[in-house]
Amino acid sequence: MKKIYVMGVDVGSATSKCAIMQDGSELLAGTVIDMGVGSSGVEKAIAKTLEDTGLTMDDMSFIVATGYGRNNYEKADRSVSELSCHAKGAHFIFGGCKTIIDIGGQDAKGMKLDENGELKNFVMNEKCAAGTGRFLDVMAKILSVDISQLGEMDQEATGIIPISSTCTVFAESEVISSLAKNNNPKDIVKGIHKSVASRVAGLINRVGVEPKVVMTGGVSKNIGVVKALEKELGVDIETSPKSQLAGAIGACIFAYNYYLKEEGGNGNV
Ligand code: ADP
Repeated sequence: MKKIYVMGVDVGSATSKCAIMQDGSELLAGTVIDMGVGSSGVEKAIAKTLEDTGLTMDDMSFIVATGYGRNNYEKADRSVSELSCHAKGAHFIFGGCKTIIDIGGQDAKGMKLDENGELKNFVMNEKCAAGTGRFLDVMAKILSVDISQLGEMDQEATGIIPISSTCTVFAESEVISSLAKNNNPKDIVKGIHKSVASRVAGLINRVGVEPKVVMTGGVSKNIGVVKALEKELGVDIETSPKSQLAGAIGACIFAYNYYLKEEGGNGNV
C-alpha cells in the first residue's frame, strides 16, 4: 500500500520546528532550529527533517503550517492555529493528558483537553514577557550563560535569591544589582525560575489543573522551571524530548486528516 507522508511546520517567535509523519500515526523525524520567524530557520528545519527521513518535498501529500509566523510560510497547503496543533500534538506525545502548559519564546498558554484530546478551554499570556522564554533568554544573557545551562544551575543552587519585580525590565536591573552584590548566580537562577513559575501558575490556575499535566514548548527543557512549577501547582508534570515539537506534530496530524478529506475519505478535522 502507498505510504502517505505529511509535514508539519511550526514557525515560532524564537525557533522553527518541522516534523514528518507517515500514515498519520508514525513520527519519522523532527527538527528544532534556534531561529524564529523572519529568518531562514524554517528552510533549515525542513531541509534537516527531509535529510533525516531520506524523503523530498515531492513525497509530501499535505503540509500544514502553525505557530506565530505560520502565515509567513507560503508553501503550506493550510495553516492551523497554534492552540489546536499543540493540543493534538501533546495528545499524540503524552496520550491521556488533560492539562497542557506551553511556555514558548514569547507567550505562555494553559490548555485543557477532554478524554479524546479535544481542546476544551485555554488561557494565554501574550502581552508580557515575564513568564515566557523571552524573560529567561534575557536573564541568561545578563548572567553570561547559555539558555541550556539554566536548568542545571538551578539544580545546583544551595539557596534562593527571590526576585520581587514582575516586570522583565525591572527584574533585569534587580538581577544586575544582585550580581553586583556577589550573590551566587545559581541562587539567582533559582529565584528567576520561581518568578516564572509563579506567573505561569497564576495563569494555569485560571483554567484549573487536572492530571495528567504535561509541558510543551522550549522552556520544558529547563528542569528548574519544571520543578518550580510542580511546587507551585502541587502536581507532577511530564515532559518529553519531543515536547518542543508538539505544535509541528499536531500540524502533521491535521495535515493527514486534511489529506484524507481531500481524497474523499473522512478526515477528522
Ligand atoms: P516559539 O515556539 O515561541 O518559538 P519555543 O517553544 O521553541 O518557542 O521555546 C523557545 C524558548 O525555549 C526560548 O525562548 C528559550 O527560553 C527556551 N529554550 C530553548 N532551548 C532551551 C534549552 N536547551 N534549555 C532551556 N530552555 C530552552
